[in-house]
Amino acid sequence: MRQDTELETTSDLAVADRLEMPPEAMLELAREAAEILVRRRGELAGEGAWDGEFRDALEERLMEDPPEEGQPAADVMERAVRDVLNLALRLDHPGCFGFVPSSPTWPGVVADFLAAGYNLNACNWLVGSGPSQLECVVIEWFRRWLGMPETAGGLLTSGGSAASLDALVAAREAAGYPERATVYMSDQSHPAHVRAVKIAGIRPDHARIVPSDGRSRIDLDALARMVAEDRAAGRNPIAVCANAGATATGAIDPLPELADFCAAEGIWFHVDAAYGGFAVVTERGRRLLDGIERADSVGLDAHKWFFQPYEVGCLLVRDVSTLEEPFGVQPTFLQDSLWGSGHPNLTDRGLQMSRSARALKIWMSVQTFGMAAFRDSIANGLDCAARAEAYIDASPMLECLSPATLSIVCFRVRPAGGEIGAEIAEETLDELNREVLARLFWEDPAFVSSAVVSGKFALRVCIVNYNTTWDDVRAVLEATERFGREALGKL
Ligand SMILES: *Cc1c(COP(=O)(O)O)cnc(C)c1O
Repeated sequence: MRQDTELETTSDLAVADRLEMPPEAMLELAREAAEILVRRRGELAGEGAWDGEFRDALEERLMEDPPEEGQPAADVMERAVRDVLNLALRLDHPGCFGFVPSSPTWPGVVADFLAAGYNLNACNWLVGSGPSQLECVVIEWFRRWLGMPETAGGLLTSGGSAASLDALVAAREAAGYPERATVYMSDQSHPAHVRAVKIAGIRPDHARIVPSDGRSRIDLDALARMVAEDRAAGRNPIAVCANAGATATGAIDPLPELADFCAAEGIWFHVDAAYGGFAVVTERGRRLLDGIERADSVGLDAHKWFFQPYEVGCLLVRDVSTLEEPFGVQPTFLQDSLWGSGHPNLTDRGLQMSRSARALKIWMSVQTFGMAAFRDSIANGLDCAARAEAYIDASPMLECLSPATLSIVCFRVRPAGGEIGAEIAEETLDELNREVLARLFWEDPAFVSSAVVSGKFALRVCIVNYNTTWDDVRAVLEATERFGREALGKL
């Protein structure tokens, strides 16, 4: 508050006070927000995993000019809860199995609040030495978990998409910025790569989609053939993007073989581990992801299977200078921010200048609960998926379409012989499973999404919530059997 200046204002409030709140009101608002969130968590399991509304209804509620005069903050927050916050998929619901859900820990949520309140900007060392150092710490944890060499480093990103984009830019730079740069990915790769290719200015027809095998893993022979053909045709292979947990099935490409191939061909080896990467902290996951440590770059999403609020992903590169070369630019207006080599300016490793202090949430939640709790929570997803697969295999009503890989299982309703008859046409099965999915959506508290596996419409569960128990998974499988039986009865 400025008391020594005589401001000419048109209202009683000095300008400096207009966007300010008295400390008591600040505390009250924050306390109320915390109460809303804690209450929500307690009630979550008793509600449906999904809520939403059609555009017309929301337009009516929300589309208006911004008010000229303010209103009580508590009223505004109440309206936000009613008209905005509740109308969304509850990705942290224990029965939310669709897409790749998430379940942030409370210290992680509070860390975002603190980082916003402290108004941190992790752009460079001068502006944020604490947050920059913490980011180095968290990146170093990830490096060790993955088993990458000490030269490796990276940065936290908004998510896996930004990590893919930064990786392709680094790969192209490392390749000497060739004409007709060409990138390879499997038909199971996340669409983030196609988008990254476009943003990076690589021609869309130079993004080569390699077919996958019967287990949704990249076909190595096809890849080798395509690379050879492309070289002969004057294209320049710059990167292979491998899956370490494909989004549809959890499939892991043969990482050691791909590492060998890329090393022999001199092609950058990028591993997209946005969904699956954090499984490395478990023993089983470590085995499954063997070879990931040989990547030139790895993308990870801590806002998926590492229990953080959106947005936090990570890009790790084998040699951190391969990020600093393409992204390090030194405008004169930042000339004061150079602290020398030991003091990285994280903005020089990726596409963002102003950056929130994303490391804080990871660090605070890991410090609070310890790695044993994180490891158990990730293993819980692996266990539940394995049990789901066993349940599906034992069910006379269900068929497994892609076995538990990491924590994803794809399956469908298809009776195994017997009374109802196993000879149902594929189109009929697709139709029937679409109907089952729709009934799960409207009538069951859980949320399941679908995929296409080997041309077949599949129901899909992805289990990455530390609050999800086997009972939650069994409940949705039982509901699927029930809806399936009813749909079959109508055939
Ligand atoms: C989610 C995901 C991405 C994209 O990450 P965002 O954080 O949504 O940008 C990329 N690859 C895989 C395998 C994913 O699961």
